[in-house]
Amino acid sequence: MSKTILLLPENIANQIAAGEVILRPSSVVKELIENSVDANAKTIQLIIKDSGKTLIQVIDDGIGMSPEDLKLSFQRHATSKIKKFDDLFSLKSKGFRGEALASIAAIAAIEANSRRKEDEIGKLIKISGGKMNTIEDSVASEGTSISVKNLFYNVPARRNFLKSDNVELRHIIDEFHRIALAHPEICFVFFQNDSELFKLPISSLQKRIINIFSGKIQEKLIPVEEKTTVAEISGFVIKPDFSKKSRGQQFFFVNNRFIKSPFLNHSIVSAFEGLLSDGYFPGYFIFLKVDPKSIDVNIHPTKTEIKFEDEQNLFAILKATIKHSLGIFQVLPSIDFEKDPGLDVPYEYIRKSPKEPPIEINSSFNPFREEKSIEKISRSSWKNLYSNVESRDSANMTSEELKLNLSESPKVFQLFRKYIITSLRSGLLIINQQRAHQRILYEKFLKTITNNDKVSQKIIFPKKIKLSQKEKVLYNEYSKNLKAIGFVTKLSGSNLEIKSAPSIFNHDDLEDIILSLFSMIDDGNFDSFSKSDLLSKSLSKAASIKSGRVLSVTEQQILVDDLFACKEFLTSPFNHQIFVTLSKEELDGKLY
Ligand code: ADP
Ligand code: MG
Repeated sequence: MSKTILLLPENIANQIAAGEVILRPSSVVKELIENSVDANAKTIQLIIKDSGKTLIQVIDDGIGMSPEDLKLSFQRHATSKIKKFDDLFSLKSKGFRGEALASIAAIAAIEANSRRKEDEIGKLIKISGGKMNTIEDSVASEGTSISVKNLFYNVPARRNFLKSDNVELRHIIDEFHRIALAHPEICFVFFQNDSELFKLPISSLQKRIINIFSGKIQEKLIPVEEKTTVAEISGFVIKPDFSKKSRGQQFFFVNNRFIKSPFLNHSIVSAFEGLLSDGYFPGYFIFLKVDPKSIDVNIHPTKTEIKFEDEQNLFAILKATIKHSLGIFQVLPSIDFEKDPGLDVPYEYIRKSPKEPPIEINSSFNPFREEKSIEKISRSSWKNLYSNVESRDSANMTSEELKLNLSESPKVFQLFRKYIITSLRSGLLIINQQRAHQRILYEKFLKTITNNDKVSQKIIFPKKIKLSQKEKVLYNEYSKNLKAIGFVTKLSGSNLEIKSAPSIFNHDDLEDIILSLFSMIDDGNFDSFSKSDLLSKSLSKAASIKSGRVLSVTEQQILVDDLFACKEFLTSPFNHQIFVTLSKEELDGKLY
């Protein structure tokens, strides 16, 4: 009788489990810090070397572990957080699966040093490749220190899959932000390669947000607060006129756990309806407190997804609450929310079905930028347009259809501050101005980088932009590429000085453009095959004229001109169709 089914040896099982929980250094950071939070630490220090590839160490002053627990903690399914099945439904802790430490131990070398308050001496344990090497008495201060060295040393596929130090560092900073935002009652310190990236003292949530994202965010925050039977909602949203072209500042926490919920995000987006211009995303730091029984956090191994019992209701309540806060803000532009938190909770929802409060619109609020000239876009000739169009063949139109009537100068006009309409010999051409300009800028930037023919302009009073830690990492990652496109910059401390910039940019827009650029790269939600491509895409998005901009007739003509001088004039760099045509035949058909 042959036996083909075998039980997997423990260390292989752990390596497999590690594949689900530990994807990269940032996953280790998350698991270790969450354990420290669960251990009631007041101060948590994170020390990393080479973006976690060489060392990740977390030191806390929490409850510590007994020598027995210290040994046990690295076993699979070893947890102090649930004792019976029902505990799963009243979870207050971050962890509960008992597999993080075992998983990490299977793929790295670990040293764990821990002492409880009641013990005189601590214990130090060394583990590598899932095997315990030593356990000895140690001098340890109260709490636990766990260091993880040479991550994935025995899983080359994983190690090779790791991205550059800058990218991995960004992932770590992301995880760090999420936990630090959820726990302003804990002091966090973060060192990378011996330099201090963050020092976050115990503070209010508002101060914590400011300490993480730099002071400038302060004037942008609107408090949100509501208590209902379904959920308690608190936190801040970012004022609509400070919203970004990326999703970088969207944070949702449920019972103090960071989660991703496209559904609830949609509810917030709909609360901002009419307040944001195209391509902008609302920023928010929203905390929901719900009955642990009404959610299931167990559906995803890394626990960033969640299932709610009463989603529809939650959607409506959240939307109404945020609309309400936005409404108050429109009426009272400066609320001193440190002093008077009561201001934002003027009525109760309890047992009422939510109804949407009206938003008071500030009539002077203009979601769109000031009118600016796009004169700087070079003027090319209509002949050029004609020949370009003629030489091209596309799936949805023939060059014949695109032939412009050259006998008279083509008429252009703008519709809804969004479309440019121009006539073709055979009908009408309706162009989306924003997408057209994105295409023009994208090709221009790409060409500049490829041909190294940058035209930059010295800025007489250099712009100074204050960068957050995350933005500094992005800057280091992209500084070469920025140079190639015509930016001359210098970073000192957290101040980025822009000395020269590509000449097509309006200097007043530079801060916005650079910061949007960073947040879009960070978002990373468009696929790019190279850094140059990504940079060109992001810059074209950041710097393009938007829907809502009134354009002069000359500007409209230049735009149409330049569009058809592009190599690829059918779609935007983000693959959106730029224009539609309406032929004489179609019109005749409709008006027959
Ligand atoms: P889980 O967090 O899901 O319980 P882990 O593998 O992350 O599983 O940790 C296993 C156990 O080790 C925890 O339940 C806890 O009892 C103990 N532990 C881990 N880290 C710490 C720490 N920093 N301080 C105190 N105890 C800890
Ligand atoms: Mg854990």
